[in-house]
Amino acid sequence: MPSPTTPPEPATPEPVTPEPVTPAPVRDVGPGYREQLEQGYVFGSVLTFGQRPLVVEEAQLDAWRPDVAVLGAPFDLGTTNRPGARFGPRALRTNAYEPGTFHLDLGLEIFDWLEVVDVGDAYCPHGRVEASLDNIKAKVASVVNRGIVPITIGGDHTVTWPAATAVADRYGYGRVGMVHFDAHADTADTIDGNLASHGTPMRRLIESGAIPGRNFVQIGLRGYWPGQDVWDWMAEQGMRWHLMDEVHRRGLDSVLTDAIGEAMDGVDHLYVSVDIDSLDPAYAPGTGTPEPGGLASVDMVRAMRRLAMETPLVAFDVMEVAPAYDHADCTVNVAHRLIMEILAGLAWKRRQRGEQPSADRPRR
Ligand code: MN
Ligand code: MN
Repeated sequence: MPSPTTPPEPATPEPVTPEPVTPAPVRDVGPGYREQLEQGYVFGSVLTFGQRPLVVEEAQLDAWRPDVAVLGAPFDLGTTNRPGARFGPRALRTNAYEPGTFHLDLGLEIFDWLEVVDVGDAYCPHGRVEASLDNIKAKVASVVNRGIVPITIGGDHTVTWPAATAVADRYGYGRVGMVHFDAHADTADTIDGNLASHGTPMRRLIESGAIPGRNFVQIGLRGYWPGQDVWDWMAEQGMRWHLMDEVHRRGLDSVLTDAIGEAMDGVDHLYVSVDIDSLDPAYAPGTGTPEPGGLASVDMVRAMRRLAMETPLVAFDVMEVAPAYDHADCTVNVAHRLIMEILAGLAWKRRQRGEQPSADRPRR
């Protein structure tokens, strides 16, 4: 028996497991490319969303580790009326005037707090609906499967079918809610026998189980379509909607509070989809199916900001910008600003969490 003064046997040292090392992000595009980006839309030659770097190789995307990736889906074969939304991605990258990057209301430099890249377009070969939609789904998946927030620029609203399916594939069927701004419900079964129309994507998403009907909330619906049979189907799915008439009476801010609660009831993630025709044609004439009596841009920019700030937003899209019908770039600029408000809201959320911007984060 050891005496009380005997020093204890030295403990066998525990094997040391090295801390997993996350490599620092690599965000280098080279000085010449950087210089072109810094010149801005008017004088530069690199036309990306918000003059963000173009990162099209998946290995480079892995190294870059952005928070958000903007992508284009130049598809309009699902359009029932005026075509041309295939030019939406190009217009938002080139025709919107560059507004600066400091958000006045939030008092923050957006890109100091949020790393955003442009990952280019999904390939949408003309006349080939299935191939196009498959490519859009794969492009969104290549972003969301890395935990990056995809911001998809349409394209007609058919695009939201593959885009939101990719998001549900990542986060789980039944785990993602939807807030959908539109003049139209887009819940028809078929149109002209077509399952993949811009009037049917929301039905496809509910039928597949990607988005639960009871978490599917629509805002801004008005006009003269669809008919009673479709509203009956929507009610059977447990869908919730806020007609433009209700928004007109109560105000968008108040309606949005309800919509967020409805969409998030029992799910953990949110997809927000904006048909630009949810806005009144006075603000957004450049679209295929304009419907008078719609939302005002002054309310919509604030709604986007709130959605990004207050919800677990994992994906966003802006659809149906058809620049050939635009006047004075009104539609292009408001669509661009809806995305800027989402980015500002996400940046604000990072600042609230105290996530310091990384030192190597380039301004552009
Ligand atoms: Mn619409
Ligand atoms: Mn739509």
